Amino acid sequence: MAEIELKNVSYSFGDRVALEDVSFELNSPFFCAVMGPNGAGKSTLLKLMLGLLKHQSGIIRIMGYDVPREAGKVRRLIGYVPQVIDIDYRVPMSVEEVVAMAALSRDLPPRIMTGNVRRKVREVLELVELDDPSMQFSELSGGQRQRALIARALVSDPRILLLDEPYSMLDFNMKCEIAELLYRLHKDKGIDIFLVAHELSPCIHLEPIVILLNKRVYAIGRAGEVLTLENLRRAYPGLTEVPAGFILGEDHG
Ligand code: ADP
Ligand code: MG
Repeated sequence: MAEIELKNVSYSFGDRVALEDVSFELNSPFFCAVMGPNGAGKSTLLKLMLGLLKHQSGIIRIMGYDVPREAGKVRRLIGYVPQVIDIDYRVPMSVEEVVAMAALSRDLPPRIMTGNVRRKVREVLELVELDDPSMQFSELSGGQRQRALIARALVSDPRILLLDEPYSMLDFNMKCEIAELLYRLHKDKGIDIFLVAHELSPCIHLEPIVILLNKRVYAIGRAGEVLTLENLRRAYPGLTEVPAGFILGEDHG
């Protein structure tokens, strides 16, 4: 059984097509990067997989569970890291509180900050290497914010992490640090990673599985096989040159 399975999935907002006949399967363990230009349907894809939106045709199964019919079960298997830009920074909360809220929301009321919850919060903050839990969330740097959101997604011990543009708004070194962190969670903790990004991964040397998406799937496979100039030109209309440093096709390795 594939851990993630999509068959002929389509989704439209009114008459605007966001995803068209999308099919792919991923077997655990995987570290997968979905890449495509702005408006390619990447965020829509994540929301469909979480059951936050309901696809109009096709089938989505996560570890055998049908989405959205069994979305409750699926949500317990998945940690979701939304796009940083969607978070309201005006809420005055410490990192510890942001993460603890996620931990508490799993419990039925009354929701009490027990020793167990506190331990779990410390544990995930250590995993993402945020060492001062009392820092205000609003005062964190871009990279620290991303770490805090990853910690928040880890409190439920997910099998899979879904991340929406985890590298956007970060400088190059920070992008690589976040990529290294995700890779470490994958290798050491056995968490499967499914991320979406509009630009090519800054740390392609980690050799993810790449799905090239622009409403439909243009290619899927190892980064070195998928990221050919020909494939990129098809999925990114208007792409005239590929920035230096990207590893393409036969040039790889
Ligand atoms: P991406 O994350 O790849 O940038 P999205 O999944 O956000 O793409 O959007 C895919 C398409 O669906 C785009 O054309 C976008 O304008 C449209 N879209 C996204 N959300 C909505 C919405 N709530 N209402 C109408 N159209 C939307
Ligand atoms: Mg998006």
